[in-house]
Amino acid sequence: MDNDPILSVRELTKCFGGFTAVDRITFSVARGEIFGFLGANGAGKTTAMRMLCGLSYPTSGSGTVAGLDVMTQGEQIKRRIGYMSQRFSLYDDLTVLENIRLYGGIYGLRRREILRRAVGILRRLDFRGEARTLVGRLPLGWKQKLAFSVATLHRPEIVFLDEPTGGVDPVTRRQFWELIYEAAAGGTTVFVTTHYMDEAEYCTRVSIMVDGRIRALGAPAELKRQFAAGSMDEVFRSLARTAQRTE
Ligand code: ATP
Repeated sequence: MDNDPILSVRELTKCFGGFTAVDRITFSVARGEIFGFLGANGAGKTTAMRMLCGLSYPTSGSGTVAGLDVMTQGEQIKRRIGYMSQRFSLYDDLTVLENIRLYGGIYGLRRREILRRAVGILRRLDFRGEARTLVGRLPLGWKQKLAFSVATLHRPEIVFLDEPTGGVDPVTRRQFWELIYEAAAGGTTVFVTTHYMDEAEYCTRVSIMVDGRIRALGAPAELKRQFAAGSMDEVFRSLARTAQRTE
């Protein structure tokens, strides 16, 4: 069972009226991978990710996430996974500790367990002096690190991160990636979208979407070989040039 992919979809499609936002994507993610989900603005990443997280139902296709059916078990998938949306998910008018407590409660953790994990998070993020700081007062990069810790508070098998480092300074981005590596080393599969091609290089494997379709899939080194490119940035740009959609 544990050798089964944590995520596997076939011909997954999402249409909005007559427009096909995600067009028959087929791929799998192995347990423990850091999977980079790339694509230009409007390629369909967020729409695809929402289907994988149980937040919207596919128009057609099939697949499973954490052993649950993406066509029929969205509600169960939502509870099983971790998800950090592009739009900031913490409450600005609550303190750091209050946010952790709130989400711990939503995930159904016991009070003592929440406190234990809160102490762990504050130590890991070096936030010990900030437990009572309002989240709205934290710099963006700090908020994002906290949002990641909250999204993985219930130790999900897989966590989905939608552009978690957008607008964050390079040093904090690096720290954020250390958190990702730590989670992956602890057995959590990480599914992440990013616009930063240096981050694509940190992934075990990446897929690149163009106009709703997956046009490349493999380890960064494989893709660079395949596209005779010196960097993931070059691979990405050579595919993005072929896009018809303009956002
Ligand atoms: P970004 O990086 O800008 O978030 P993306 O790759 O995540 O881009 P999506 O947000 O998935 O792209 O959008 C894919 C396409 O589907 C876009 O053309 C978008 O306008 C369209 N789209 C997304 N959601 C809807 C919707 N609810 N109704 C109609 N069209 C939509």
